[in-house]
Amino acid sequence: MKTRRLLTLKVKYLKNLVRAYGEVQEHNELKTNNGDVVMKSIPYKRQSLLITHPDVSKQWDKKKNRGCGPDEVFAESYKRIWWLCEKGHLAFEPVRKRTKRGGCSDCINNARKEVAMHSIEKRETFEDLQKNEFLRLKDFFSVCDVPDIAIKDLILKERGPNRARIYKVLRRYQINSFEALLNCTYDEISKYRDLGSKSQRELFNILTQQLSKFPPTSKAGG
Ligand SMILES: [Zn+2]
Repeated sequence: MKTRRLLTLKVKYLKNLVRAYGEVQEHNELKTNNGDVVMKSIPYKRQSLLITHPDVSKQWDKKKNRGCGPDEVFAESYKRIWWLCEKGHLAFEPVRKRTKRGGCSDCINNARKEVAMHSIEKRETFEDLQKNEFLRLKDFFSVCDVPDIAIKDLILKERGPNRARIYKVLRRYQINSFEALLNCTYDEISKYRDLGSKSQRELFNILTQQLSKFPPTSKAGG
């Protein structure tokens, strides 16, 4: 009797040990009489990957992980598993690494690259400039050799409702030349006092007009 009890305790201890390593030892689902699947009230960390991360589970490589399924590991498991994403990227990495990242590293990196490319590629409108707020105007417009023009000649060359105001504001912030202006970012300029969105838009038009006379000497990406 006593040995039997000890044995049960030992088995229980071993089961817990295995569980701590990240293996699911019991099924998380229960089938009711009418066939519905219901969850046992198991805490999140004790639920299988299949339950906690259904999207990551879809990338489980069934062929290579012979005999082991996403219903048998926890999201926090250190067990190394073969993964095959929808795009066909193959990886062999721990479950916890996959779940923390939220999926395939190749796909995530590609998506990031695409976003970065897009934000740099589109450089035409005032809205594009606002999206690239931390890019120097020089880089936004891809200008290398800036013509030597005083800010007064650039802004007051033509008449316009906001020209005098723009000139006054730029002078206040010691922007005295075309080059000094191009060395700013939109983020900086947008914080200038008394330079509202209408004036910012007009300043953008002045720049595009001026720069169309001097075609960009280099363009990013070739
Ligand atoms: Zn992928």
